[in-house]
Amino acid sequence: MSDSSTAVRLDGKVVSEQVRRELANTVSEFKNKHPAFAPKLVAIQVGTRSDSSVYIRQKSKACNEIGILFEHIQLPSDIQQSELDKHLDKINNDPLVHGIIVQLPVPDHLNTKHIVHSICPEKDVDGFHAENIGHLSKRATEPFFHSCTPLGCIELLKRYNISVAGKNAVVVGRSDIVGSPIAMMLTNLDATVTLCHSKTKDIEAKVRNADILVVAIGKLEFIKADWVKQGAVVIDVGMNAKDDPSKKAGYRWVGDVEAAAKQRAAYMTPVPGGVGPMTVAMLLSNVVTSAIRHFEASSIVSIVPNPLTLQDPVPSDIAIASAQTPKLISQLAGELNLAHAEFEPYGKYTAKVTLDVLDRLQNNSNGHYVVVTGISPTPLGEGKSTVTIGLTQALYAHLKRPAFACVRQPSQGPTFGIKGGAAGGGYSQVTPMTSMNLHLTGDIHAITAANNLVAAAVDARLFHESTQTDMQLFNRLCPKKKGERKFADIMLRRLQNLGISKTNPDDLTPEEISRFVRLDIDQIMWRRVLDTNDRFLREITIGEAATERGMVRKTGFDISVASEIMAVLALTTSLPDMRERLGRMVVALSKKGEPITCDDIGITGALTVLMKDAINPTLMQTLEGSPVFVHAGPFANIAHGNSSIVADRIALKLVGAPAGEPVTLENAGYVVTEAGFGADIGFEKFVNIKCRASGLVPDAAVIVATIRALKMHGGGPDVVPGKPLAEEYTRENLGLLEKGFANLRRHIENVSKVGLQAVVAINAFSTDTEAELELVRRLAREAGAYDAVPTNLWAKGGAGATELAEAVVRCCSESKQNSKFHVLYDHNLPIKSKIETIAKEFYRAGSVSFSKEAERKIEEFTRNGWDKMPVCMAKTQYSFSADPALKGAPEGFDLPIRDIRASLGAGFVYPLCGAMQTLPGLPTRPCFYDIDVDSETGDVLGLF
Ligand code: NAP
Repeated sequence: MSDSSTAVRLDGKVVSEQVRRELANTVSEFKNKHPAFAPKLVAIQVGTRSDSSVYIRQKSKACNEIGILFEHIQLPSDIQQSELDKHLDKINNDPLVHGIIVQLPVPDHLNTKHIVHSICPEKDVDGFHAENIGHLSKRATEPFFHSCTPLGCIELLKRYNISVAGKNAVVVGRSDIVGSPIAMMLTNLDATVTLCHSKTKDIEAKVRNADILVVAIGKLEFIKADWVKQGAVVIDVGMNAKDDPSKKAGYRWVGDVEAAAKQRAAYMTPVPGGVGPMTVAMLLSNVVTSAIRHFEASSIVSIVPNPLTLQDPVPSDIAIASAQTPKLISQLAGELNLAHAEFEPYGKYTAKVTLDVLDRLQNNSNGHYVVVTGISPTPLGEGKSTVTIGLTQALYAHLKRPAFACVRQPSQGPTFGIKGGAAGGGYSQVTPMTSMNLHLTGDIHAITAANNLVAAAVDARLFHESTQTDMQLFNRLCPKKKGERKFADIMLRRLQNLGISKTNPDDLTPEEISRFVRLDIDQIMWRRVLDTNDRFLREITIGEAATERGMVRKTGFDISVASEIMAVLALTTSLPDMRERLGRMVVALSKKGEPITCDDIGITGALTVLMKDAINPTLMQTLEGSPVFVHAGPFANIAHGNSSIVADRIALKLVGAPAGEPVTLENAGYVVTEAGFGADIGFEKFVNIKCRASGLVPDAAVIVATIRALKMHGGGPDVVPGKPLAEEYTRENLGLLEKGFANLRRHIENVSKVGLQAVVAINAFSTDTEAELELVRRLAREAGAYDAVPTNLWAKGGAGATELAEAVVRCCSESKQNSKFHVLYDHNLPIKSKIETIAKEFYRAGSVSFSKEAERKIEEFTRNGWDKMPVCMAKTQYSFSADPALKGAPEGFDLPIRDIRASLGAGFVYPLCGAMQTLPGLPTRPCFYDIDVDSETGDVLGLF
């Protein structure tokens, strides 16, 4: 309290230093707990005004002192508004920036109001944005930030324990950044506020009545000392220069209130040293608040389930999907803390997510990684996709854990053909399933375009080389433009491969020109693709038109998902890596038997352009609102049949733990990724090809089994699509089941061979009996499974898989603490040894026999240096052996290797253990009979 003669000094210097010390402690404590925490303020200065430069230097110094990163962006004084807007847009969208200020004033040609409102309110640490001011004036809402000077005034009152409630407060001055917000803040603290301005009558009388007086008008000593009420609290915001010859500068700073008022007031701010120092301290406080708020929000994925209304009997997949309105994709992206620049919506419910997320979250730990695989299936499939989706729904909507599913994009071939789509089924689906199963975001179309551009380029090159001399080819490949020849960048790459270091085309010798222009294509290995089951294109003759001058040859089409470009997409880790891989793809052999690559054809850049959007995974959601990445869909036989590495990586970071923090049950979520076919194929390739390439370490493997498939492996009758199931499958038969369990036992053993634990998900059907489910459960546990759990996720969604989800959580938790995961073989081993390891260790073959052709190629690949890659076995999924009829758990058989091929871009060699169909055909009654559009509503009908 004051003594009789003078007011207590509301010392802004002392208080602001205290505030800064406290902020420095807060930042350092938060950093200790969360090493990735890095508050950052960006200040934009337009022009070079010296006073602005001084203020910015002060702010920079203050930030450094307490551990806030500070970036000063200085822009030219003649910058156009649109250019300035671009800068603001960039930092608004930069998730690493928590506060933005534009140092005012700006040059006259710029619009200050527009600038203030171009800073996003969440980063407006000056608190000038209309949204922040507006929220301040509403009692029910809170702004993101209060402007700094008013906040400093209030802080001073708080620090000196001055009560405000019920007092008469008079604020003189009503500017948007000082007077008005102070008045509102005092009102919010329950003072009765009178706001005065230049048109106010008899200010003196109002001031005389003030218990708390705040003056912010910029008029030197406007308030006379004797107006101030005895015992009042006086906050003098004004800063006015008063002539003073005794000072070096010739002036000194005085306030809007006569200094003698301190004889009457109980508390009063000095000028200078009162409100001034508080302003910068409050700016720092706003930045720290913003950074903490942002950190807390962005390190926790929000879980907002979309509840299901279950019906019995379970309606069709499309009826279930239509009854459930998905969340808008912008909402889902917000829940995942994606910055605006990190996702590009494609319509209302899907978006591409850019790989920039990986840069932003590079220091985060990955979440828990779960792969879903299956036993050797029946031709009907055992529900791997449904379990993948349902398990994610259970983790997310029922266990309330952040959870992502990563699945492959379905090919349109089967959608209109025989199998139907791949969005899961029943109450465990990706939605909207119509988009998922049709064009989605066009990735498969991009692959088709890229693949066929290569095909067109190879045939065209063969044609041109056959009809032109070396010099004619050279003149066309490197035409003179304005008297000068230039190599395209990609041509320099070819020259480098040929050992020619010249960069000027005119320096090449005739011999070098010949080597450069002649690819001498002999054997074309590249085929065309399309995403339709068009069996009559399996083998075709091309070049029939007279214009092709008799260059007729046989070739054929594959389904688009069988293109090597799809395998490249699935295994790539970044845009530069994808470009490298596309360039390495071998499209033909030369007359000398040397490989000709896409780099040699000169097409790599163009392919990368066609694929540049496809590299970004597509964000969708499950019926219960959990996020899903749909990306890539490589064939599971001639390729590795797993969804993309980039999708898994992004998802693992999004649900991962903040940098420097160990992954725990509390701070990290789950990524459930699906591996195609049975575990002998899809899971083996997941481990030895995908994880080897990605370096990611799975924590658990879920093996999906059905009673039906196990009975088939026990010797049950054939299961044929379209035909009713035999009685063995619809009645209890424990004997058949126990016999067939051998198949599941072997898959469990295989999972443990690579150091993982298996959780068996029994995808239960209504005809399965309690005794059957219990038998599988017991046998699986005895066989070493971590657990075995019946699920009912087709009929119940996530609610039908909570027990499974709990088992997965436990399994992951144990594995994270003590991971024993490893790949099965060293990729540097000879090709034959790698094949034999897989055949003997995973399939339990007794021997492997290689055809002459396979032997010859293995030698050739080894000579070419292609023997250091993993092996991608092309084998039937219906048996551990190469014979689909050999059910159960056969052993000691011979595995015949008919042929072997190389995918240099994807990065594997693929031995063929039987005939492979690479373009499915349409049956007599394809799915398309049932597919239509409701012409009234535009809804798609009949997709499953
Ligand atoms: P401003 O935008 O110029 O606003 C001045 C306000 O004072 C206006 O509302 C105006 O009323 C009112 N006013 C002017 N003459 C008046 C009079 N004769 N009687 C009653 N009201 C009168 O100024 P500001 O940005 O709010 O700044 C005010 C003062 O605070 C300046 O001295 C400034 O340097 C200082 N300041 C200090 C800090 C700090 O950190 N210490 C920060 C910001 C500002 P009308 O609305 O009717 O025109």
